[in-house]
Amino acid sequence: MQNKIIGVIGLGMMGVPMTNNLLKANFQVKGFDLNPQAQEKITKSANFEWVNNPQEIAKSCQIIILILPDSNIIDQLLWGHNQDGIVSHFQKDTLVIDMSSSRPTNSKTNAERLHHLGFSFVDAPVSGGVKRAIDGSLAIMIGGNEHEIQPVMPIFQALGKTIVHVGTAGAGHAVKALNNYVSAAGLLAVSEALVAAEKFGINPHLANQVFNASSGKNNTTEVKVENFMLSETFNSGFAIALMRKDIQTANDFIHEMQSHGSFAQLCFDEWEGAEKSLPKGADHTAMFAYIKDKS
Ligand code: NAD
Repeated sequence: MQNKIIGVIGLGMMGVPMTNNLLKANFQVKGFDLNPQAQEKITKSANFEWVNNPQEIAKSCQIIILILPDSNIIDQLLWGHNQDGIVSHFQKDTLVIDMSSSRPTNSKTNAERLHHLGFSFVDAPVSGGVKRAIDGSLAIMIGGNEHEIQPVMPIFQALGKTIVHVGTAGAGHAVKALNNYVSAAGLLAVSEALVAAEKFGINPHLANQVFNASSGKNNTTEVKVENFMLSETFNSGFAIALMRKDIQTANDFIHEMQSHGSFAQLCFDEWEGAEKSLPKGADHTAMFAYIKDKS
């Protein structure tokens, strides 16, 4: 672990601050993103090297962190169309750490395929948003084998505060999707409640103050209502497209597990409708504007 270079693929809203925290903890990092401008946001450091393609990462890093939009992109990157993905360039004993919010079933398959080739795989998605990615206090939920996870704990400790090993490969991604479904359900409920309160003539700031002192309190009421929703800035840094993807993953997972999930389906339909109606690239907190508009 000590002398290994960490490759990071995906330097977006989360990948940039996470890479900066790896550098702060003195890790040697190589980074790649399809958007070359991403490198400008990385802290200047002799320990960081930008590379021009993901094959470079595969050839020179035995630990590869993926923090990319979704499973389709990850599967394509790893395996390509005809086994021509980056896996074909891996060094001996390479470990892939998928920190994106991916589909648990895809991750389970990726772990099996990589293990079959003698490589390792751990899923370690994160929660806490851009703010906690910046201050290194993310929640990290890990799926995989203990012997694959333990050696790279210093990496997780540089990025997060609450690190929980939740099960075998794919379990981290399952818990992540389920968490975001719960979070999305909360944000949707708060949006509907605040719009109705306002229509009655109640000051929504006061309504939210009451929620925060009562049983309606949740992450939306505590963190998002004042900062991003009532302020109408809608700039939390987490896109509605990514939230819709996570609810879709959770909804599919609930059904695959043959669990009852009528509310997950309703929640997904509502978020999908909002994503279609809002401008491309909208933040997930703009769900509040969508509900207001519909009302
Ligand atoms: P983002 O869209 O800001 O960043 C994704 C980056 O991946 C972009 O810079 C894009 O250019 C790059 N990319 C896409 N395809 C690529 C490829 N084939 N090769 C190399 N680079 C490629 O997304 P984000 O907000 O940083 O989210 C990343 C992951 O983390 C997602 O799975 C998301 O669901 C999850 N997540 C995001 C947040 C958040 O608050 N933003 C919080 C928790 C988890």
